[in-house]
Amino acid sequence: MKPAAFEYSRPDTLSDAIRLLAEADGSAAPICGGQSLLVLMGLRLTMIERLVDISRLPELGEIRDDGRDVFIGASTTHAAIEDGLIPDPSAGLMPRIAGKIAYRAIRNLGTIGGSVALADPAADWPACLIALDAEVSIAGPDGQRQASVADFVTGAYETILAPAEIVLGFHIPRCASMRWGTSKVSRKSGAFADSMAVFVEADDGAAPRAVLAGTSSHACLLPGVGRYASEHRTLDKVELRAVILQDLTDVAPDADDYQRRCHVATVSRAMAEARQS
Ligand SMILES: Cc1cc2nc3c(=O)[nH]c(=O)nc-3n(C[C@H](O)[C@H](O)[C@H](O)COP(=O)(O)OP(=O)(O)OC[C@H]3O[C@@H](n4cnc5c(N)ncnc54)[C@H](O)[C@@H]3O)c2cc1C
Repeated sequence: MKPAAFEYSRPDTLSDAIRLLAEADGSAAPICGGQSLLVLMGLRLTMIERLVDISRLPELGEIRDDGRDVFIGASTTHAAIEDGLIPDPSAGLMPRIAGKIAYRAIRNLGTIGGSVALADPAADWPACLIALDAEVSIAGPDGQRQASVADFVTGAYETILAPAEIVLGFHIPRCASMRWGTSKVSRKSGAFADSMAVFVEADDGAAPRAVLAGTSSHACLLPGVGRYASEHRTLDKVELRAVILQDLTDVAPDADDYQRRCHVATVSRAMAEARQS
């Protein structure tokens, strides 16, 4: 399928991009890497009259490291993170996540901002950024605001983004010492995950964070698993399975037996990897 006819603009400034989106009153959308949006338009799952290309806006390409956190602009590609072209606040977690997204042609163009803004339930970046306790910066007609990524993603393909708002990038806290693990089950290489888990444990006293993606909703913290990890140095397989299943009753109540098995496996493997490092 080919997309329906659309208009295309590539504004030079952030304020022009926001104005164009606001004037279109819901019939326009920003496009960054185009790796998801063009597919959706080609399949006519979404109808957009005007694409506003934000991929070259300077604000979205910024990378800042103030020693406390790293700001990664929304138009940063998966490949740039995979290749270590930007500072890594995550002790190797982000390059590992980036390298497992789709395949290289998609990673060369797909962006971290586009991934989080789209909020596909199985996407890798929302889970990773929630585990890292990252914040998202947003710009829109009413100015700029910031929110935790955990609060930003509210459902399957749902976020707190208002019409004409643009994700500028992500503030990712630096931690002097941390352990992490991640695990993903996909039916074939390069496909979205049936289940994907990220576990992060910092040595600064912050509570461990376990995040699950690949449910029918959105990437979510697993509070029971986090508590279990903070109380147990050694992971007991049977106890941990029971704790994960308990969390699933809230975050994936509609999961079938196969999905529950995948979720138990990915969360357990992510935690085991973190504890081995
Ligand atoms: C075959 C295939 C396999 C894939 N596998 C995976 C996978 O395993 N894991 C994974 O995580 N992803 C996967 N993806 C998705 C890929 O990572 C996309 O690149 C990503 O989801 C979207 O990024 P983009 O820059 O291309 O966004 P676009 O396609 O340009 O936009 C996506 C959506 O986000 C909006 N948007 C984009 N940028 C912004 C912004 N800065 N502010 C506000 N809204 C914005 C657009 O309006 C649109 O609604 C896959 C995609 C394909 C086609």
